This record gives sequence, C-alpha cells and structure tokens, in this order.
Amino acid sequence: MRYISTRGNAAPQAFCDILLGGLAPDGGLYLPESYPQVTASELSAWRKLSYADLAFEILSKFIDDIPAADLKAIVAKTYTAEVYCHTRNGGNAAEITPLTKLEDGLYTQELSNGPTLAFKDMAMQLLGNLFEYVLDKRGESINILGATSGDTGSAAEYAMRGKHNVKVFMLSPDGKMSAFQRAQMYSLQDPNIFNIAVRGMFDDAQDIVKAVSNDAEFKAKYKIGAVNSINWARVAAQIVYYFQGYFLATQSNDEKVAFCVPSGNFGNICAGHIAHMMGLPIAKLVLATNENDVLDEFFKTGVYRPRTSAETSVTSSPSMDISKASNFERFVFDLVGRDPAVVRELWAKVDKGQAFDLSTTDYWKNLPKFAFVSGRSTHADRLATIRMANDKYKVMLDTHTADGLKVALENRQAGTTMIVLETAQPAKFEETIREALNCEPVRPADLVGIEALAQRVVVMDPDTAAIKQFLVERV
Ligand SMILES: *Cc1c(COP(=O)(O)O)cnc(C)c1O
Repeated sequence: MRYISTRGNAAPQAFCDILLGGLAPDGGLYLPESYPQVTASELSAWRKLSYADLAFEILSKFIDDIPAADLKAIVAKTYTAEVYCHTRNGGNAAEITPLTKLEDGLYTQELSNGPTLAFKDMAMQLLGNLFEYVLDKRGESINILGATSGDTGSAAEYAMRGKHNVKVFMLSPDGKMSAFQRAQMYSLQDPNIFNIAVRGMFDDAQDIVKAVSNDAEFKAKYKIGAVNSINWARVAAQIVYYFQGYFLATQSNDEKVAFCVPSGNFGNICAGHIAHMMGLPIAKLVLATNENDVLDEFFKTGVYRPRTSAETSVTSSPSMDISKASNFERFVFDLVGRDPAVVRELWAKVDKGQAFDLSTTDYWKNLPKFAFVSGRSTHADRLATIRMANDKYKVMLDTHTADGLKVALENRQAGTTMIVLETAQPAKFEETIREALNCEPVRPADLVGIEALAQRVVVMDPDTAAIKQFLVERV
C-alpha cells in the first residue's frame, strides 16, 4: 500500500514514512493510492471479532510495512477495556465503542471512553504506540510541539506520556481553560511531558508553534514534529469504529445504517467516508456543524468558503469551532475523481483565503454517490437537545453530541438505523450542562477531585525565542 498526495507532486510513500510527518512536501494530504475493498465474506467474519482484532484486520489493509505480529501486539495493547474504561449508560467496556440505544433505530456510539473523555483518544492512543514502535526501530526521536485550547493537547499528552524517544511540549493559553482541563493536562508528572502556559490567548500560542515550524533549520536540528488532525494514521484508526458501530447496530450485512458526525476539521467523518468507500453498507453520512457552518454550507450549496478567524464564533461546542476544515481536501480529492490538478487549482484559491464553487461543475453531480447530507445547530438547539435527551431518553449528552443528535433527527429515514457518534462526555462541559439541566454532569470516579492534584506547568510570555530556548534546554 502506497500513499499519494492530493496535490499529485510528491513521491508515493509507505505507511511508516508518512506516520511521523504532516503535510506532503507539495502541500497536499496523503491518501492511499486506492481504497482497499472489503468482501462480503470478510464482513461476515469481522462481525464476530473483538475491537482489537477488528482494528488489526482493517489497519492491515492500510499498513504493510509493519510485521503482522508486531501490528497485532500494538493494536492489542491500545484497544483495551482498561484504556477505554469510562463507559456510561450501561455500556460494555470490552466493546471499546459501545452503543447506547435511545429508541428503536436510534443510537449513540460512545467514542469518548478514553483517558481524556473525548473521541480524539480513539486515534491518539494508537498513534502513541505506533510512534514509539517506529522510533525505536529506527533509533530516532521526536519532539512534539503543539498548541491547544483543551481537547487535542490533552489527548496527545495522554497518548505520548512515558513513551520512549518522544517528548511533548504543549502550549496552552494561561488561565483560559477550565479548571478540569487544566487539571487533566497539568497534573501529568511524566518527565517527557512539558506544559507551557502562555500569557495570552490560544492564537498567541498557535502563532509560536507556526513560527517555530517555519524555522526549517531549527525544526530539523531539534526534530520538531506535530500530531495534528491531518495525520493519516489518526484518520485510519478512526475507520475501525464505523465498522464496530455497524456490527453492533445490525443483525445482518444486508442492512444499511446512517452515521451522524459532529464535525470540525472533517477528520472523523473523513474516516466514515473511507469506510463507505471500502464497502461498509452506509446509507448516509450526516455531517453536523454548529454556528461555524462552513461544511454545512458546502454540502448544501457546493460553495466552500473558509472563514477568517474574525468570522469564527466561540461556541458551546468549541471543538467544532473551525474556519477551515483541514481534512476536507481528502474528500474533495475523491469528489473530483482523484484529479490532483483540480485539487491544486481549488486549494490555490483556499490558500489565498478565497472560496471555490463546485455547484456549476460536473463533479457536483457525483455528490449523491458519496451519500453526504448536512445540517447545523445553534446554542439554543444544543440546550434544547440536551434537555430533550435527558427527559425522553434519560441520557446526558455533551454539547458536541447534542449538535449531532439535533441534525440526526432532521435527517432520519424510516427503516434506516441512525447512529450518532458521541464525541465527548458532558463532564468536560460543566457550564453548558448547568445551563441546560441545572445540575452537575456525572464525572467518572477516577477523575473526581483531579483539580486538587499537584500540577506541573511553567508560565511563559508569548516569546518565540524564549520558548525555543526552553525546548533546546530539554530535548
Ligand atoms: C475534535 C472534536 C470534534 C470534531 O472532529 P473533527 O475530526 O475535527 O471533525 C467534535 N467533537 C469533539 C468533542 C472533538 O474533540
């Protein structure tokens, strides 16, 4: 299996060669040269597998440069009931991503049972183990530098803690995260994890990461890497739970199901798209956005108009507050018949801050075969949906999953099961839960009181030179 760039000007690569990197050298994103197909007999056999065994079968189709026994061991130590222990609603931890039945034909799928209570743990935990394996094999090391406003940074830290040859330097805006988020990150005592609280906003932290990454010499000398959402291995890992959800919701492979996905950077639903292209019987992929509706607008009109940060609202489903969906280029590559010249032309516009319009092209006529539909929600919709789910289904939803359920209900089709992906637990969004339900969200027992643990964090000015120096002294 070789990986090609959506912009067509990069040499094809093997899985391990793209694992540690980000963009392809031509600025595009890597995708498999073709999607492996799942046969009817494989689909039947897979129905009986544990999550880890299913992950091994699926990932084996994308990874041919790690010996099977090693990949099997990596996957087996990643997808355990101990790592994904935070089940709720009577979910079976052994299933890793169990379903909760809301009513006949309507489920949520728990993707947020990992250490940080958000779906990013599904892929990030695997990434940590893959990084360690490949770096050990190659005798290399990596220093991950990132900026976070909460979710991604903590998922990366919990994935990389204690891993050989990996250090994590995570910048966060000082005093801008919730006490729970701060405790989650800053209470980690692992010597390879460095939390740097920057006096400023998230954008100041992000600018420092960009400045360091643009210094090619520094980046190479100090082996600076990232674990952002365009990483191919993260997308690949996410394909697995679409299969698992399908098997848990159906009796036979003649049935089709729809998935509704709370979306931001298009990473999660991109995995659903690939599962569909592999042959998983998916009736619809329902994309849900919040007020930041750049993707909903595209699927309704054919116009992709990335927003500026000034046009991006801060909402109560903050992990979906995106202005430009970093994985979207992967889907558009497929939509335009995998023609890299077309992608280059479209992203020349995007990179200049312009919009593109596919509605007047023949490519737009291909959209139905990809089975996407979309919708959006507002803060008021989320509050109403959280209240409705609590009253009617006796289930407490987080704000992102509430976006999903709201849009899922608008797009249900009689006779087709709908699975709403639960991307976070309500414990992470106490303020909105209080507003909606006038009570505190349930928090998993092992996370009660983490705010009182000792914290390991340094506070620094948003000064790129000083932060570079901090790294140099510790790598
Ligand atoms: C990251 C995230 C999303 C958005 O996922 P994408 O892959 O960026 O589309 C949705 N909900 C939660 C809770 C998240 O952390």
